[in-house]
Amino acid sequence: MHDSNAIQVKDLVKFYGKVQALNGVNLEVKRGEIYGFLGPNGAGKTTTIRCMLDLIRPQRGSISVLGLNPKADPEVIKARVGYLPGELHMDENMTAKQLLRFFNRLRGNRSDWKFIEELSERLKLELKIPIKNFSKGNKQKVGIVVALMHRPELLMLDEPTGSLDPLMQQEVLRMLVEARDNGATVFLSSHIISEVQAIADRVAIIREGKIIEVVETSSLLKRSMRKVHIRFQEHIEAEELYNLPGVEVIAKDASMGVSLKFEGEMDTLIKTIAKYPVNDFETEHASLEEIFLTYYEEQEDN
Ligand code: ATP
Repeated sequence: MHDSNAIQVKDLVKFYGKVQALNGVNLEVKRGEIYGFLGPNGAGKTTTIRCMLDLIRPQRGSISVLGLNPKADPEVIKARVGYLPGELHMDENMTAKQLLRFFNRLRGNRSDWKFIEELSERLKLELKIPIKNFSKGNKQKVGIVVALMHRPELLMLDEPTGSLDPLMQQEVLRMLVEARDNGATVFLSSHIISEVQAIADRVAIIREGKIIEVVETSSLLKRSMRKVHIRFQEHIEAEELYNLPGVEVIAKDASMGVSLKFEGEMDTLIKTIAKYPVNDFETEHASLEEIFLTYYEEQEDN
């Protein structure tokens, strides 16, 4: 394994009975990067993470995490990794404070309690309330603090922001960027493309148990499709705009509005639109599903 890799997975195959969840997964995550792991429901994200932590065992393949074999060194890996499972199971009669203290003791009191309090405050986590009285989002926050509090070398997070409100999602993403800036590696499983785009250095896309592409996030952004809604000031035929490479007209209405799909450099599109009298202009990212569909179509065309 290359020294700079935090994770190296080769040819991972996992069946649950007759269901094949992983069909030859290969991954190489460099130390110090935020690596997004994107895929639709059932693609194999959770299975891959669980194999990497030796919570389940694959039928085939090799795994190296922080240079170690998770099967041979599970306790070393668990001490050096911060893991947030997709489904949290916590001792719910405990308060968040009791649970965090318990985890800290398990890890040899390595966490600085001030840091735990700082993380909790940033997430507006109420420490004195029993976890059973928490909403789903607040339980998620406890899991996030447990994963981050010992400043692990590697964070493995399975859909960390799913139940959080937008402000808290942003705060968690900031925490992950800070962890990366302080030297940690972040492996972030998600089906939310915007959060992966916002912070990941690279993204792997998994589908039906196979990695179909690994890309630098910046290139995914450039490629990713947008929907554009324009309202002109007058009735015009914007032929130059409609003929621009990457533009597909979805709808035109009688009141000077037009909706387009666009894939390409935004700069070119904006400069072309600017040649016309415009009242309003709005863009939205295509959903992950639409981007996946583009990938699938491209694959089928090959
Ligand atoms: P999600 O985003 O929905 O959490 P995922 O990408 O994490 O999905 P996995 O949970 O890894 O996907 O599931 C991969 C495949 O394995 C799916 O077809 C799923 O139904 C199946 N699977 C997962 N766990 C089990 C299990 N314990 N028994 C049988 N099949 C399972």
